Amino acid sequence: MGIKENLDIINANITAAAEKSGRKREDILLLAVSKTVDVPRIKEAVELGLAELGENKPQEINRKYPEIENVKWHQIGHLQTNKVKYIIDKVCLIHSLDSLRLAEEINKRAEKENIDMDVLIEVNISGDEAKHGIPPDEAESLALAVSKLPRVRVKGLMTVAPFVEDAEENRGYFRAMKKLFVDIQAKNYDNIDMKYLSMGMTNDYIIAIEEGANIVRIGTGIFGERNYNI
Ligand SMILES: *Cc1c(COP(=O)(O)O)cnc(C)c1O
Repeated sequence: MGIKENLDIINANITAAAEKSGRKREDILLLAVSKTVDVPRIKEAVELGLAELGENKPQEINRKYPEIENVKWHQIGHLQTNKVKYIIDKVCLIHSLDSLRLAEEINKRAEKENIDMDVLIEVNISGDEAKHGIPPDEAESLALAVSKLPRVRVKGLMTVAPFVEDAEENRGYFRAMKKLFVDIQAKNYDNIDMKYLSMGMTNDYIIAIEEGANIVRIGTGIFGERNYNI
């Protein structure tokens, strides 16, 4: 199936899941995960209306950035402190903030560029050792520490749920993320604006939206299987 057909299905699913949770299609951002996808195929997706792209690797953002116009880039993969300088002036949102040290580096680089950078706190909701992110019970204190940095703005939470056969198995994790999100929001801390809840990928975005996600990050569902050898 082509990108257009894939997108039609995904958009219909997003609309249905949004309505099920009392929201509308336009309340949900479909972030197209373009890692390993070549520029012509990304351009095809952009022409079909996908205006925001997510990448894992700073080098890949750097390579594609000059080639694709009129889009917003998101850093969604784990970010090493020494790579912040490559993306600080190119991305609109960093989804993978998982330490104060990384936040301090982002703050320093943003200061140099004279910009503010929006970030999401990445939470390891399943406790899976292979996953990035901080434990749920440390999310609030990290958000609070980050919120004191003048050039970093905390805009919500992100998680990568486990890969499961049946997406229903992740519903409890998504629900726990929503609860954490709402609990932090309720504290009304300065410089913490719980606006985005980034969760749900190709296999589980419908359940994620039903449980409150407002950014879903979808790669293979749009572009097909990834080929890491190119
Ligand atoms: C690759 C990736 C995605 C997209 O995964 P698909 O299963 O292809 O939709 C989403 N989020 C992150 C952090 C990723 O690394």
